[in-house]
Amino acid sequence: MTTVQIDKAKGGQSEIDEAAFARLQGSFRGRLLAPSDDGYEEARKVWNGLIDRRPGLIAECTGVADVIAAVNFAAKNDLLVSVRGGGHSWPGHSIADNAMMIDLSQMRGVRVDLAKKTARAEGGAQLGDLDHETQAFGLATPGGVMSETGVGGLTLGGGVQGWLVGK
Ligand SMILES: Cc1cc2nc3c(=O)[nH]c(=O)nc-3n(C[C@H](O)[C@H](O)[C@H](O)COP(=O)(O)OP(=O)(O)OC[C@H]3O[C@@H](n4cnc5c(N)ncnc54)[C@H](O)[C@@H]3O)c2cc1C
Repeated sequence: MTTVQIDKAKGGQSEIDEAAFARLQGSFRGRLLAPSDDGYEEARKVWNGLIDRRPGLIAECTGVADVIAAVNFAAKNDLLVSVRGGGHSWPGHSIADNAMMIDLSQMRGVRVDLAKKTARAEGGAQLGDLDHETQAFGLATPGGVMSETGVGGLTLGGGVQGWLVGK
């Protein structure tokens, strides 16, 4: 049985009771990785190799249902949460020690609406995913220059100096 310890949002540490964690496991399709699990060390890596933080739990979401389950679990247990998109924040804003990391990096779908000239990207989509789908329709977007940066982070605090900046 996995013991999970995560910091509370308002301070203090919480040992998640086994029944609550089992319920999350039952409703979650992606991987739920505690520090003792295989795959945890790889999953906690972000772009900046100087960031060496250890979340209490990594919830690798495969779709919207997983995100809902993870957010509800965190809210119900009052947990400290971080959200990971493309993982390219220089200061490592997507990962925190002893927090629950809601990892969206598997969710990379992009859907283009040609008539409206808009695109909807899933939370973990990377700039290269967006470029690939929009270029198929002859569309392009400013953004950044690195294909691996996340659309989520670029949207919230970036999206400058893309290849189209000269235009
Ligand atoms: C090599 C490199 C090249 C770069 N080039 C450019 C560039 O050309 N132009 C530019 O503007 N910026 C550039 N940046 C900066 C980059 O845009 C920002 O660091 C951006 O925040 C990275 O987003 P991310 O999703 O990859 O990062 P993350 O670390 O995953 O996320 C960054 C922040 O956004 C939040 N977040 C991410 N996705 C979501 C989501 N779906 N829902 C809620 N919160 C979310 C995270 O919680 C975190 O606080 C570059 C960065 C690097 C490392």
